[in-house]
Amino acid sequence: MTSSGLYMYTGPIIALFFALLYLSAWLYRRVRLYLLILALAFFCYTVAALTQMAHVPADAGLNAVLSGAGYTLCILLLVKGIEGRFGETRREVFSLAMAITVMLLTVHFYYVDRSLISRIYAQNFGYGLICTVAALRLRFHGQVRTPLDRAFFWIFLAFGLQFFVRTALTVPLTGELAQYEQLLQTGVERRQLLEVFRTSPFWQVLNFTIFISGLLIGLLLFVAVALDVIEDFRQESSVDPLTGLLNRRGFQLKAEPLWRDAAMRPLSLVYCDIDHFKAINDSFGHPAGDVVLHGVGELLSGELRHWDVAARFGGEEFVLLLPRASGESALGLAERIRTLLQATTFDVLGDGRKVTASFGVAEAGATETLAEVIHRADLMVYEAKRSGRNRSLLDPDTPAP
Ligand code: GH3
Ligand code: MG
Ligand code: MG
Repeated sequence: MTSSGLYMYTGPIIALFFALLYLSAWLYRRVRLYLLILALAFFCYTVAALTQMAHVPADAGLNAVLSGAGYTLCILLLVKGIEGRFGETRREVFSLAMAITVMLLTVHFYYVDRSLISRIYAQNFGYGLICTVAALRLRFHGQVRTPLDRAFFWIFLAFGLQFFVRTALTVPLTGELAQYEQLLQTGVERRQLLEVFRTSPFWQVLNFTIFISGLLIGLLLFVAVALDVIEDFRQESSVDPLTGLLNRRGFQLKAEPLWRDAAMRPLSLVYCDIDHFKAINDSFGHPAGDVVLHGVGELLSGELRHWDVAARFGGEEFVLLLPRASGESALGLAERIRTLLQATTFDVLGDGRKVTASFGVAEAGATETLAEVIHRADLMVYEAKRSGRNRSLLDPDTPAP
């Protein structure tokens, strides 16, 4: 085998490596189906490229159709997988129609009107259209958000466009390509002709660009996937699954930078504890209690400004951190939430059963720690409970600087 022959196999081998990489990622994180789809896409490329390069099956027509089908399936799966990563779930009407067209043209330009050049144009322009349209669709549907997404979008778009540019620039440079099939039939030795094909600018540039862009797509997408998985863990470890609010840990992480930021002062804290929640559980069951907790979480989220931080601190206790809010205005918010909750009916609790909560409010002193303010607000909850529940109390003693 010549060195150019060996070099040819790098593409399929790298694609196989990515197939295995994405397959392992999927086995590790089965909720992300697009990882499996991407693994299949890379695998299809490997099979199609090997089919074409190793001339198996040897029948030229069958080989052209099978390798064409492999490449087409690869592009379809790649687009589907990428869209899955970006949360795009539309049906692939355009891609499918294009893929079918490409395959019909491939068959036509072998069995009906034999022309290698036409097959090359049909496949490359078809794949170029599928990828370019998919990339633009991600962009225009607002799925490209982070800098990494943007980098990936440009690479994917360039990948789509290179099908047009590369094909248009390199195919005319290899005269033999136009007569390839006629030459095959008029007795030029097959091996000789294949060598012309392999050393043609078309084939060399094709391998190079597919190799580079495939490598970039595979790697960038994998970095994005790794970040997604890390983000999943971060979310899981800082969010309370029942209410979707932050848990204690998530609260701490989010509150600390706000706490240190002087521009966020005055800063206040509201502590909320549902009244007689144990009795709700005892009378209506634990699942009904969960519904109430979920409802209270929704009610709290609905009342917050975008920089406010809400957390479930465990059990039936919630904490709100309110930047740029004095104690008085935090008390106003607590009262609004208290009144809303009192007026809310929960189907699971049957007729007439109200849910109320007691609120403790404290404004942060200049030299206080977050834990100290939480403690003062908690003491106010205790006071509110003692004086009859279903009320909000503001700690009058904000420590002076
Ligand atoms: P108070 O008015 O004095 O606050 O009385 P309370 O009954 O609300 O307070 P207590 O601390 O005695 O009870 C809290 C209850 O919250 C006890 C516990 O079983 C229940 N609880 C804690 N976590 C959950 C949960 O995730 N789901 C449900 N349904 N109940 C929970
Ligand atoms: Mg409690
Ligand atoms: Mg309680």
